[in-house]
Amino acid sequence: MAFKKRFTPRKKFCRFCADKSLPLDYKRPDILRDFITERGKIIARRITGTCAKCQRRLTREIKRARQMALLYYTTTHATYVKKRTV
Ligand SMILES: [Zn+2]
Repeated sequence: MAFKKRFTPRKKFCRFCADKSLPLDYKRPDILRDFITERGKIIARRITGTCAKCQRRLTREIKRARQMALLYYTTTHATYVKKRTV
């Protein structure tokens, strides 16, 4: 059974350190959205694999994006916004 383990578990790495061109910025909610749950919670570092340095920046940028209404605080709020903009 040489090929028994075809799928190795996803290796965790910091996406922002791995790809220097990936902007960590509140103006890019499309990227920040990968690091928050459907309910708007910031996903823990141990799950995403983001390094401590980037996680701190990420948290700050997500909070900024929320203030700028680029991201949502909660799901309820998101649907409310969607309804208004559609
Ligand atoms: Zn990093």
